[in-house]
Amino acid sequence: TWFDFNEALQETIEDLQHTTQKHKLIQNFSPTGKIYSDKDRISQVVTNFITNAIKYSPHTDTIIITAQRENNEVIVCVQDFGVGIPEDKKDRVFEQFYRVSGNKQHTFPGLGLGLYISSEIIKREGGRMWVNSVESKGSTFCFALPVDDTHS
Ligand code: ATP
Ligand code: MG
Repeated sequence: TWFDFNEALQETIEDLQHTTQKHKLIQNFSPTGKIYSDKDRISQVVTNFITNAIKYSPHTDTIIITAQRENNEVIVCVQDFGVGIPEDKKDRVFEQFYRVSGNKQHTFPGLGLGLYISSEIIKREGGRMWVNSVESKGSTFCFALPVDDTHS
């Protein structure tokens, strides 16, 4: 169905903000308009990104969520300033059951499924997903979804 993309994103973020005292979910949106997609599934992906950002940022509190329109895509990114991902493991985090093993300071619970499921959802919606990350500096997870204006 068609839905207002930023409005849906904002709702998801507000719900998640209630689950954390410590972390501040900061929105930085530019207009994206309406898109045709599976609203609940897209919300699930955003939720996976943000819950990861919270979990893997034990010592920093800022999480920045951006949304923007670029040509025929909407792009959503979730940036954290947490533990980051080693360069040689970055490509593997979307694999089923893959987890970066914790270091001495941190162990994090999880199954290694959130990003795999997310990437399958985004693929099915015709989009793509990627990550930029620097170990012990933080990570930025993004997805892009195609926008078809011809039917809006
Ligand atoms: P769950 O199935 O509960 O989501 P998980 O969080 O371990 O478990 P994914 O969300 O698929 O699984 O993430 C896979 C791995 O990628 C994680 O185990 C973690 O090592 C790494 N990762 C994901 N998001 C981040 C992040 N924001 N910062 C650092 N590492 C991350
Ligand atoms: Mg996860």
